Amino acid sequence: MQFADLAEPLGTPYWWTADAAETDTDVLWVPPSKTALRDDVDVLIIGAGYTGLSAAIAAHDQGASVQVIDAGDPGKGASTRNGGMCGAHPRIPYEQVAKQFGEATARGVFNEANQAFAFVENLIQREAINCDFTRCGRIQCAWTKAHYAAQQRLVDKLSAVSDIDMQLLSRDQLVGEVGTDQYFGAILFPGHASLHPRKFHQGLLSAVTVRGVPVHADCMANEWSKDAAGFVVKTPHGDIRARNVVLATNGYTQGAFRWWQRRVFPVASFLIATEPLSSNVLGTLAPGKRMMVETRSAHSYFRLSPDGSRIVYGGLSAYIKTC
Ligand SMILES: Cc1cc2nc3c(=O)[nH]c(=O)nc-3n(C[C@H](O)[C@H](O)[C@H](O)COP(=O)(O)OP(=O)(O)OC[C@H]3O[C@@H](n4cnc5c(N)ncnc54)[C@H](O)[C@@H]3O)c2cc1C
Repeated sequence: MQFADLAEPLGTPYWWTADAAETDTDVLWVPPSKTALRDDVDVLIIGAGYTGLSAAIAAHDQGASVQVIDAGDPGKGASTRNGGMCGAHPRIPYEQVAKQFGEATARGVFNEANQAFAFVENLIQREAINCDFTRCGRIQCAWTKAHYAAQQRLVDKLSAVSDIDMQLLSRDQLVGEVGTDQYFGAILFPGHASLHPRKFHQGLLSAVTVRGVPVHADCMANEWSKDAAGFVVKTPHGDIRARNVVLATNGYTQGAFRWWQRRVFPVASFLIATEPLSSNVLGTLAPGKRMMVETRSAHSYFRLSPDGSRIVYGGLSAYIKTC
């Protein structure tokens, strides 16, 4: 199977349904831009997911002329199909990073989590994006006893070297969080948040287009070349000359960008939503109303839908050889 085959979802993602967006009728899919392609810009952004749109806002606000292009509909990649869990939680032991890259790098990496979160929260507030952003907290549930022991060590270490807000929860304390005794304990990140992925993307797209930055759908960057003046990128709708290029193509990087493709590790992950459930069932399954993830590598993650009516469940699948 080629990676491109994975780009199409197996059904209609929950976040794309009217049901998911019913709390905000202004959230509509933005059709491909009808404005002309800018053929000479300071910054060309390839890919119109969170990364590309956020970069477009930043570049425009610094005074650059910007063009955004996407191979398909903006957002149809990971940015409208994810779990909507906001906040970085460490998955690699601190000691492992410190051993491989040094103590200073390890501190830097772990301390970036708060800055990244603050950036996203600030972006949402500044652009007044209505995306159900809620600081509900996240629990990272220990799949084995050994994982819980590692969590204890991690909390001890990070409490000393970072300002990450985290608490250890014993197995007994988990009773108030999740309706299962599967887990051996957890780390609680009280400051982490939830959001509606598609509404977040929609808000970013609006923020870009309101600035007058064109976003072209169905406009794949097929080839690129570099000379003293910058880059020339070929698309089906014409060539674009750009002083700078931001490649924001995520796991969909392919074709002309093979050098980068070989350096991106695609992770296959799937999301499903239950039918609406009774408040009794939901209160039993997720009494803490947190974002919930597991420590095992092929992990599950789950949450309540923003309207509190369903469980949205995600899981990593087996890795597929793509190139
Ligand atoms: C099922 C799932 C659950 C997830 N859950 C979470 C979560 O809960 N929390 C979290 O923080 N992260 C989560 N993620 C990860 C998160 O969704 C991504 O990190 C994020 O959306 C990446 O955004 P992006 O803009 O970099 O890429 P994308 O949104 O994937 O956008 C890349 C874009 O590049 C375009 N493109 C590719 N090649 C070209 C080309 N040659 N020319 C033009 N355009 C091109 C594609 O069409 C696509 O639109 C999840 C991901 C998945 C798949």
